[in-house]
Amino acid sequence: VSYSNSRALFAENFHRLLSTQNQTRRKLEDKVALITGAASGIGKATASKFISNGAKVIIADIQQPLGQQTAKELGPNASFIECDVTKESDISSAVDFAISKYKQLDIMYNNAGIACRTPPSIVDLDMALFDKVMDINVRGIVAGIKHAARVMIPRGAGSILCTASVTGVMGGMAQHTYSISKCAVIGIVKSMASELCRHGIRVNCISPFAIPTAFVMEEMSEIYADVDAQRHVDIVHNAGVLKGANCEPNDVANAALFLASDNAKYVSGHNLVVDGGFTSFKTLEF
Ligand code: NAD
Repeated sequence: VSYSNSRALFAENFHRLLSTQNQTRRKLEDKVALITGAASGIGKATASKFISNGAKVIIADIQQPLGQQTAKELGPNASFIECDVTKESDISSAVDFAISKYKQLDIMYNNAGIACRTPPSIVDLDMALFDKVMDINVRGIVAGIKHAARVMIPRGAGSILCTASVTGVMGGMAQHTYSISKCAVIGIVKSMASELCRHGIRVNCISPFAIPTAFVMEEMSEIYADVDAQRHVDIVHNAGVLKGANCEPNDVANAALFLASDNAKYVSGHNLVVDGGFTSFKTLEF
């Protein structure tokens, strides 16, 4: 082999190696994802993670200025659409927006959700509050799956994710209404995974615990009005989760990346707990 031939061979192999590495690193190349509740917190971290892995992301959120700001921050592969998940027409429009802009929808992440302060006893439950939480946390998820499936079924492929919670695994934890809604999310995922598997669509959820986001800080300060919210998060972390983990929204984003990507091509109907081991600590006082 001549010197110039061996150089050409080296260059070709080097290029091939680089592009393989790129593919390994960029797990969502050319994929299109729609993420609800992505103006902040877990949704925003996931949008950023998906984009850095090659995806185009639509941020669908009820908060318009914040959502627009997030999309701007995340660059040209992010766009924003105002969407209230309690309105089926908003979800339908967000899915149609993805199709008209990018011609496809590969990943639907139903992440939007709210917490609420509920009375300690079911006897005192305000059913209007119950309906409000179910409307966002449960009905919003079902509508998200419905409209994602509408465009994924004809292509015979897709990955649907939802955000549940460790409260959906354990129940209780100071907020029965929220827990009920998240138990429902896990149930919906199992049921939808079994229906949609015949169309090549995977459906999974993630159950985080105490990830410091606006949601958790508000929740903690509402429930434990006498304790500083950050201090409570610290206490919970020190008492019952992996030491030194310093959890952050990015930990959930990494789980979402795995479930959305082809690395999880044989994973469906799964609830991936991202809780630093919290659900293993059965004796923890909460
Ligand atoms: P967050 O408050 O930062 O994000 C929630 C997002 O949902 C916000 O951007 C909000 O505007 C949006 N939203 C609320 N109502 C909406 C609606 N009707 N339509 C569209 N968007 C709406 O909090 P987060 O912690 O990132 O929460 C994301 C999800 O994670 C929620 O489903 C929450 O229940 C779940 N979760 C969070 C934790 C945690 O530790 N942070 C734990 C368990 C579950």
